[in-house]
Amino acid sequence: MKLYNTLTRKKEDFVPLKPGEVTMYSCGPTVYNYFHIGNARPFIIFDVLRRFLEYTGYNVKFVQNFTDIDDKMIKKANEEGKSVFDIAEFYIGEYYKDARALGIKDPTVAPRATDNIDAIISTIEKLIEKGYAYEEEGDVYFSARSFDEYGKLSGHNIEDLEAGARVSVDERKKNPADFALWKAQKPGEPAWDSPWGKGRPGWHIECSAMANRFLGETIDIHSGGQDLIFPHHENEIAQSEAANGKPFARYWLHNGFITIDNEKMSKSAGNFFTVRDIAKEYDYEVIRFFMLTAHYRSPINFSDELLEQAKSALNRIYECRDNMLFYFSNSENEGTDEAVLEKLRQYKTKFIQAMEDDLNTADALGAIFELVREINTIIALQVPPGKGTVEKAYELLAELTGVLGILSRKHENNIDEEVEGLIEERQKARAEKNYKRADEIRDLLNKMGFEIQDTPHGVKVVSKNRR
Ligand SMILES: [Zn+2]
Repeated sequence: MKLYNTLTRKKEDFVPLKPGEVTMYSCGPTVYNYFHIGNARPFIIFDVLRRFLEYTGYNVKFVQNFTDIDDKMIKKANEEGKSVFDIAEFYIGEYYKDARALGIKDPTVAPRATDNIDAIISTIEKLIEKGYAYEEEGDVYFSARSFDEYGKLSGHNIEDLEAGARVSVDERKKNPADFALWKAQKPGEPAWDSPWGKGRPGWHIECSAMANRFLGETIDIHSGGQDLIFPHHENEIAQSEAANGKPFARYWLHNGFITIDNEKMSKSAGNFFTVRDIAKEYDYEVIRFFMLTAHYRSPINFSDELLEQAKSALNRIYECRDNMLFYFSNSENEGTDEAVLEKLRQYKTKFIQAMEDDLNTADALGAIFELVREINTIIALQVPPGKGTVEKAYELLAELTGVLGILSRKHENNIDEEVEGLIEERQKARAEKNYKRADEIRDLLNKMGFEIQDTPHGVKVVSKNRR
């Protein structure tokens, strides 16, 4: 598989450090709110990467943290008159509700910063000992200049960074490009004991400490949104490599931005949507599908129109599955046609090739739609190639959509007695050549949300009420 590595700025063959095993770290949410549609993109994309790696036989250890202490957490807790811990507890629970509904697998480990203060402190101690960090009145800073390769991920150089950096009045750092590893307690803030007095960790150090604790000194893949390249990931590299004297992450993956109606998403522009908001109108799976329609490194634009398109595209896959199930319960031809299966398997090859090319989910979906078209065509034949063939086609579609984490809804037969009665009545009317009555019943069923299709294998009923 080839992956684009931000660190080397090229597509590289992916070869994990240990054969058969992949260690992966992805930056998780700060749990002070429901997560927004921009956060959802990396969660979904890197879940697909994980699923694909597992599909190709790797054992993937996937760590994603919860940032449960920082300025935003403290502000939210004060606003609501609750403890930072209570805010974190609540929004971690809500994270799992949204993430699971989006089909995102739980991380192998989902550590919280506040559960790992000991690992954070010992990493900072190591950095001070080795001369990469210094204490200043209860704060501890990382000295950017002390790490020769500072800037290698983002392409910034230290002189420009120092010239552009702003130092706020309450900071005590020696150089403008330095950043906080530990912050001395301010009145009313939660704090932990440390060798430098009471305080709390900076944001960047938590990822270095937890990646090290749960995955080791060198990990295979580190992923996150493009907006994290600088300073967050640059700082993670500096901290981890300075502390351990080893490369931190071998492949750095970053997803592109999301725009809303072609504008940057921001609270002030009023186009700031949480996944929870959007899920009121669209099924979570439609949101997931939408994210896969563009290559993950490209920008993606989010609009009602594009979500509608995603919805109807996803429904085409569900309809294909319904077609197969319908054929299956109505045909008596048990045969299997190897030549047809051979043709269908070509789409699997195409799918895998697309995924191996830097996770090109857009092309992978293209292969799935070609498969769908082919399956629909063979089922519509006067003499379809038998149930054995259709069974294999069904398994193939489930296999490929499973890698993308879509087509996960159960087949629902929401046809009740009333609808069944009407269908029978219509069949009777048709048999008696009472086409007027048959059409009336069809229109009535239409109004009730059911489409009636007369196929060579009998009457097929399609529910139109999918979200
Ligand atoms: Zn991080």
